[in-house]
Amino acid sequence: MADIKKMLDKFHEVATNPKMQLERYLAEGKKAVACAPVYTPEEIIHSMDMVPFGVWGADMELKESKRYFPAFICSIAQSVLELGVGGEYEGVSAMVIPNLCDSLKSLGQNWKYGVSGIPLIPMNYPQNRKIKPGIGFTKASYERVIKDLEEITGHQFDDHSLEKSSEIYNKHNAVMREISKLLGDYPSITASQRNDIFKSAYFMLKEQHTLLVKELIEELKKMPKEENKKIQVVTSGILADNPSLLSIFDENNLQIVGDDIAHESRQYRVDTKPADTALEALANKFAEMDYCSVLYDVDKKRADYIVNMAKDRGAKGILMVMTKFCDPEEFDYVIIKKACDAASLHCIQIEVDRQMVNYEQAKTMIQTFKENI
Ligand code: SF4
Repeated sequence: MADIKKMLDKFHEVATNPKMQLERYLAEGKKAVACAPVYTPEEIIHSMDMVPFGVWGADMELKESKRYFPAFICSIAQSVLELGVGGEYEGVSAMVIPNLCDSLKSLGQNWKYGVSGIPLIPMNYPQNRKIKPGIGFTKASYERVIKDLEEITGHQFDDHSLEKSSEIYNKHNAVMREISKLLGDYPSITASQRNDIFKSAYFMLKEQHTLLVKELIEELKKMPKEENKKIQVVTSGILADNPSLLSIFDENNLQIVGDDIAHESRQYRVDTKPADTALEALANKFAEMDYCSVLYDVDKKRADYIVNMAKDRGAKGILMVMTKFCDPEEFDYVIIKKACDAASLHCIQIEVDRQMVNYEQAKTMIQTFKENI
């Protein structure tokens, strides 16, 4: 258990010190490229011998970003800009922002005007990502990102290196899926510690993160499964990394046994499969992705996906962690709630915002949720 504690501390150190991680990589002579939510083709950046560095904003007071955004833009996009304007990402060579929601579209435009010294690389995804022209559009957008990266950084792209990077990302996907499942057997690992494992992935090269997660998996497997007196839940939403919120989960004896969080497991569901070229394979990967509010789906299959995950993992309920002003998630909530009701699964919506300091309302809702189970 002492080894496991050390490993969890390492994940915590990385997850809570992104700036230190960035400085480490820069000191090693590496270049880093910032990757905004929700899906950025990290494999391309990795294959060009640079560090893809996740930027999902931070819990903070927003001041500067209010000069660029109206109040109803989500705090993830606003805090990314706030940090950019404040120089927190100094040292990164470029910023890639996908166009997957209206907030991200406006983040890209505001970044160009508000942040000097870090050029924007827009990543335009098609709405209809599964049809042949959609896949062609994604591939053409990747080519545009590659061209910009080559011009800005001087690093060159080659398809063979991308193939190798995609293999590294596939291996990382596999360990992240495995750890998510395995943690269900070890309720002593808290919601905050679970979050550290997922969050730290954004600030490390994936081959390095894979090694750490693998070590943790091996150590956990040496231990017997723990007796479980916690209430198992599945979380859903864009981001659920606020320490105050996670400690409320822990104080109320809730155990996350699976998640449909964009910042967590949604990143790791689909692997890249072989195709004629590695770039085509990456475009196919995006086409195959599903069950996410920012990915167009008329059938809204995400609702059944969450219900099935909850049943499969033995969860008693679903916690929808709703980022305030996130319209893609708000549209999906009604459908998810109906699916949960039909399956007799408890489901509550907890509103979060990167500017929030007081989680009393969430605490009351979680206490009521617990009593109702
Ligand atoms: S939280 Fe929602 S609105 Fe904000 S960037 Fe993410 S998907 Fe877009």
